[in-house]
Amino acid sequence: MSSYRFDSPIPPLLYEISRPGRRGVLLPESDVPDTPLPDNLVRSDADELRLPEVSEQDVVRHFTKLSHANMSIDTNFYPLGSCTMKYNPKINEAVASHPGFASQHPLGREEDTQGALAVMYRLQHMLAEISGFSAVSLQPAAGAQGELTGILMIRAYHESRGDTKRTKILVPDSAHGTNPATVTMAGYQTVEIPSNNRGTVDLDALRAACGDDVAGLMITNPNTAGLFEEDIVAIVDAVHGCGGLVYGDGANFNAILGIVRPGDLGVDVMHFNLHKTFSTPHGGGGPGAGPVGAAPVLAPFLPGPIVTRGGTDDGDYRFTMPENTIGRLKSFHGNFGMLLRAYAYIMMHGADGLRAISDNAVLNANYLRVLTERAFPVKFKRTCMHEFISVGSVYDGVSTMDVAKRLLDYGFHAPTVYFPLIVKDALMIEPTESENRETLETFADALQAVADEAQNNPDLLHDAPHTTPLRRLDEVSAVRNLVLRYQR
Ligand SMILES: *Cc1c(COP(=O)(O)O)cnc(C)c1O
Repeated sequence: MSSYRFDSPIPPLLYEISRPGRRGVLLPESDVPDTPLPDNLVRSDADELRLPEVSEQDVVRHFTKLSHANMSIDTNFYPLGSCTMKYNPKINEAVASHPGFASQHPLGREEDTQGALAVMYRLQHMLAEISGFSAVSLQPAAGAQGELTGILMIRAYHESRGDTKRTKILVPDSAHGTNPATVTMAGYQTVEIPSNNRGTVDLDALRAACGDDVAGLMITNPNTAGLFEEDIVAIVDAVHGCGGLVYGDGANFNAILGIVRPGDLGVDVMHFNLHKTFSTPHGGGGPGAGPVGAAPVLAPFLPGPIVTRGGTDDGDYRFTMPENTIGRLKSFHGNFGMLLRAYAYIMMHGADGLRAISDNAVLNANYLRVLTERAFPVKFKRTCMHEFISVGSVYDGVSTMDVAKRLLDYGFHAPTVYFPLIVKDALMIEPTESENRETLETFADALQAVADEAQNNPDLLHDAPHTTPLRRLDEVSAVRNLVLRYQR
């Protein structure tokens, strides 16, 4: 029988382990009388089915090995910048799989699903309180969808005022790629705003770009270089001054929980990445959720339904469409399982705990920044927020990609590479608050070891990774010709 194995020095993954006659379960003799099936439903060739014949132990070992072929938060430090790969507390899973939630039907009637609606109502209010917004919609399924939601709301706002000459959205050059993509999807044009040499928005360039053709600005704070936009109040004033509105990309919210509220800074609408800030598994591990919070000026345009409370007496929870809603963004009620996990996480931490998350995320990033800057220089030599950017290409003939791949051999998921675009050959490192001091120090030691190898034995890096189930992938072909199914 043919067998397929990964090209790997570590225990091979065998795929063709089926042997005729092997069984995982023995069923009792059927005591149900045979019932003839219509001819067209009868399988003509019994061999067609080709079910694997394996023992229970074969199956357990196979899938356990497969689960180890990937990096994950539960197995490895995962400093993937801008993705906030923090630990996902297991209590979240207990809450989300509670039968009272897990077995609800999305078409259930409001009166039969009051508990679920109460959780959504409370989560809306907690997120509004944490961020300084007046209302929240839990609809969007991811950060990127939250962005689209926000820009469509800004569009609807201008249209509701008969202001149709605005065609542009300002986006700093440090922005995540989803920002300009969102602008285009919403029918606007992106105007790129340069960064200054401190890594933040060039205020003069921004002011020069403001005008009556500007619908708004998309801004991430702290930005993707892990730097707080200190001029944020002046930035918001400039955009409001020309009649535009401000979209906050909330992906980096983990750095400022309980410290500063985007709504208080004048941001008009913002998405939360529940899967980043509020610990729901993501990045191959599960779906996301990208609720959107809005200031009073935009709250009536939120997508719905949102959960409101009924008359003063009954207090029943019900679904309501906001007054000038842009409509639905998602079928049913968002990614409800993610909402439950985020709710559990926020309840478990409380206000003080949320603040401690950000304090520790920032502390960890700064500790790691100082520990690693000898191995790989840090681009912006300033105190950072929750993440920082190193330059990965400082050793002759060794690229940022080589460094990232070699780190896998040391048992670490690679940092984000070649992003943001404002830093050439960036290694973007975000440790999160959930890592302890020993892990940070071990990672810094690994970076130093890789830096030494880069100078003494660069081929070791060129050929890395050496210990993973698959070696360096051809990422270009993988994108063009994605094969997700096992093929013999
Ligand atoms: C992750 C991220 C997004 C997109 O969020 P998704 O939930 O992945 O769609 C947008 N902006 C920034 C800065 C991000 O880091």
